[in-house]
Amino acid sequence: MIEMQDVWKQYPNGTWALNGISVRIGKGEFVYVVGPSGAGKSTFIKLMYREERPTKGHLFVNGFNIERLKDRKVPLLRRHIGVVFQDFKLLPNLTAAENVAFALEVIGTPKKYIRRRVKDALEWVGLADKADLRPAQLSGGEQQRIAVARAIVNNPQLIIADEPTGNLDPDTSWGIMKLFQRINDRGTTIVMATHNREIVNTLRKRVIAIEAGCIVRDEDKGMYGYDD
Ligand code: ADP
Ligand code: ADP
Repeated sequence: MIEMQDVWKQYPNGTWALNGISVRIGKGEFVYVVGPSGAGKSTFIKLMYREERPTKGHLFVNGFNIERLKDRKVPLLRRHIGVVFQDFKLLPNLTAAENVAFALEVIGTPKKYIRRRVKDALEWVGLADKADLRPAQLSGGEQQRIAVARAIVNNPQLIIADEPTGNLDPDTSWGIMKLFQRINDRGTTIVMATHNREIVNTLRKRVIAIEAGCIVRDEDKGMYGYDD
């Protein structure tokens, strides 16, 4: 699903965020990405959906060669990827249903399919009854569920999440993790950057630890391993 071969990333201001990352993530895996702030976790994740481009090295995601991918082909890549953020990134002027529908509209899904798929996705995250509310009328946990519905509505093969529980209380965080577990149970690959020690140490998965732009640990059913 994902292959990185000696990937380096330098930002325009000169900062090196990744210093030679090589890793393979197979279809259906569930991977936590851990490490201190500033280690390069977000950069690692942003390369996967071509939010950032590698400076050097080779990167393949779901059969796409990311270095060679033309800007106009990026929507083709993202059609197969759902992304979930710490701050939800819902559009404030749209209802929950419209937010989910928007993800289908931008990839050109025929209108006649959109209604049904949005309804199914909202039911799947347990929020069918909140379809017509705007983000400001929803709790943080509900907003993140809507964001998860938006991420899965196109049945992607890969879900990328950057600190998805970072703004949520522990109970709400576990609710989101249950959704991710159910998504992964269907065979969808999940890559999730997190600082949530309790989740990593309880719901045991592969753990990739990044420090100063390098992978320093890669373990099956690993532990969080930091004191923060
Ligand atoms: P993490 O997600 O682990 O906190 P990041 O990938 O956000 O780490 O950042 C890695 C390094 O790259 C840090 O030194 C950070 O300051 C730097 N960085 C991140 N984004 C940018 C950017 N857009 N421009 C310049 N430097 C950046
Ligand atoms: P489902 O009902 O979808 O089968 P589970 O109830 O099995 O989901 O929860 C998914 C995972 O999250 C399980 O490994 C479970 O142990 C863990 N989990 C759920 N809630 C908590 C919690 N409050 N504290 C610790 N682990 C939890």
